Amino acid sequence: MTLRALLLAPPGAGKGTQGTLLAERFDVPHLATGDLLRQHVADGTELGLEAKEYMERGDLVPDALVVSLVVACIAGPQPLEGYVLDGFPRTLEQAEAAFKWGSDRGRTFHAVISLHVSEEELVRRLLERGAAAGRVDDTEDTIRERLRIYEAKTKPLEGFYDARGILVEVDGTGEVQAVFERIVTALTPMLDD
Ligand code: ADP
Repeated sequence: MTLRALLLAPPGAGKGTQGTLLAERFDVPHLATGDLLRQHVADGTELGLEAKEYMERGDLVPDALVVSLVVACIAGPQPLEGYVLDGFPRTLEQAEAAFKWGSDRGRTFHAVISLHVSEEELVRRLLERGAAAGRVDDTEDTIRERLRIYEAKTKPLEGFYDARGILVEVDGTGEVQAVFERIVTALTPMLDD
């Protein structure tokens, strides 16, 4: 039994934390496009140089760049059977590309987990993270911009996945472990035997 899941949630909702826990529990890789992109920026690759300006202002990196980045991770001579994706897809165009890629190979997502957290709580968490971890995009103006882009570009993906019967909505507030148990309980019925 493997897991192909996506965490769909605004910045600050806990995608990274829950994605790590989920990947450990199901023994699959955790692929976070934000982390992969930050690594490219740090390494000064061509992709990183192109992505940097978008990321610094809180904007989305162009679809084609992100799609090629993710496909490079999950394809290859031995394509990954399972994974927890965090931060991808983030636009309808990316979702359509991912769905096409997966259905051509009999590997669409089992579940898409949507974490619900109020905007006030998101901003509070992100400002705290900005102070602690020094992420250049965790400043108040950039946070508001990322939340605005999330509402406009990413939230519509809930409808896309709900129409396919794989959307799982989970309350993302409270203790990390409590949220994790809610996620596991909600997605277990959706897995293959
Ligand atoms: P957050 O969810 O807190 O915004 P991430 O680490 O997921 O943090 O993403 C950081 C930045 O990386 C985003 O603001 C965006 O610029 C870029 N990024 C990550 N994933 C994608 C994606 N799928 N499409 C476009 N841009 C992305």
